[in-house]
Amino acid sequence: MSVQSDVEGRSERPYAGPERFETVIIGGGQAGLSVGYHLAKRGRPFVILEANERIGDSWRKRWDSLRLFTPARYDGLAGWPFPASEWSFPTKDEMADYLEAYAAHFKLPVRTGVRVEGLSRNGERFVVVADGRLFEAENVVVAMANFQRPQRPTFAGELDPGIVQLHSCDYRNPSQLRDGGVLVVGAGNSGAEISREVSRTHPTWLSGRDVGHIPFRIEGLASRLLLAPLAFRFIFHRVLTMNTPIGRRARPKILSNGAPLIRVKPTDLTAAGIERVPRVAGVQDGLPLLEDGRVLEVANVIWCTGFHPGFSWIELPVFGEDGELVHERGVVGDEPGLYFVGLEFLYAMSSVMVHGVGRDAEYIARHIASRVPAGSAVS
Ligand SMILES: Cc1cc2nc3c(=O)[nH]c(=O)nc-3n(C[C@H](O)[C@H](O)[C@H](O)COP(=O)(O)OP(=O)(O)OC[C@H]3O[C@@H](n4cnc5c(N)ncnc54)[C@H](O)[C@@H]3O)c2cc1C
Repeated sequence: MSVQSDVEGRSERPYAGPERFETVIIGGGQAGLSVGYHLAKRGRPFVILEANERIGDSWRKRWDSLRLFTPARYDGLAGWPFPASEWSFPTKDEMADYLEAYAAHFKLPVRTGVRVEGLSRNGERFVVVADGRLFEAENVVVAMANFQRPQRPTFAGELDPGIVQLHSCDYRNPSQLRDGGVLVVGAGNSGAEISREVSRTHPTWLSGRDVGHIPFRIEGLASRLLLAPLAFRFIFHRVLTMNTPIGRRARPKILSNGAPLIRVKPTDLTAAGIERVPRVAGVQDGLPLLEDGRVLEVANVIWCTGFHPGFSWIELPVFGEDGELVHERGVVGDEPGLYFVGLEFLYAMSSVMVHGVGRDAEYIARHIASRVPAGSAVS
């Protein structure tokens, strides 16, 4: 171990390293593994740094009953199909195990339990600080979906302490809830699926605007024969992209409203006895206050109010005044060598989905390979 300071001059702390790599990939989920696969195919050296103890943990940590809403035929990454019947819907643990096996199968160099806490630049190289270690690289790929830090309204803290509050990322199953009503806040895919589950044991209200739904049953015959390929392969992957006028128009709406419901239909919610209510506007006497002035006397609130990427560890001027990343198809023009993969609508509606991330990953791997001539690699 050598004692040195990072570029911010935090010299008090001893750092091991630096270790040098041509490319450091931050995040070992489907996005990071996909970039790794495409770099390995081109013979380019890299390392993947993953904060969790096990590859696939971001899936393992989701609620117990979660099944993917995409059929297995759309849940495989490049080079290795998902090992299940094409029209089955994998559990979250099967997906997690698949990712772990994928990394092992292609011998991708993933270091787990390494959380990156700083990313800056020192001359031509990026400096990555993680768990007391320094890494230097010509290229860095930030490979992750937006879903890293839970987001909930600030007034959540004003709710009566007797109300059980969970964010969707902490919800596992109904046994975590108290007897009494449940208010699920946020009516996107997670909110719809969780409200359906808790409605079996608790009176349930679902708050939030209607995000729309795909007009067919994802598990049905028509889906297999025509509609799922049409939605996933054609509309989400080819039509709704930054390359089409309709995609560019749809992007801001999809980013602010969320994707349409895939599995659950509004009629399923009604059939389950779930009452749809307007958005939550605040808190009154410790209870949730709705936009229409109603106060709900519930014992539990589940916040399905989304996430943000939590990029405060990126110490580079790559975010615009609106806080949005400035990039083109994941390539950050102002910081040559810096890339992003996995974010919602990075290039297409499918960019955040398993079947869409590979195309973006390949694009970035090609960019890296063209930028750094083969043979100049440092590791
Ligand atoms: C509830 C839910 C259900 C979904 N269902 C589907 C579905 O059915 N089909 C589909 O196609 N898509 C689905 N998605 C969308 C998407 O496929 C998943 O979110 C998927 O996990 C995204 O993979 P990723 O690799 O881009 O990001 P993540 O899975 O979030 O992986 C990023 C990795 O980066 C690591 N990381 C983060 N910060 C750091 C750091 N600072 N240092 C080191 N490592 C770090 C994390 O530990 C994580 O392992 C779903 C999403 C959610 C939230």
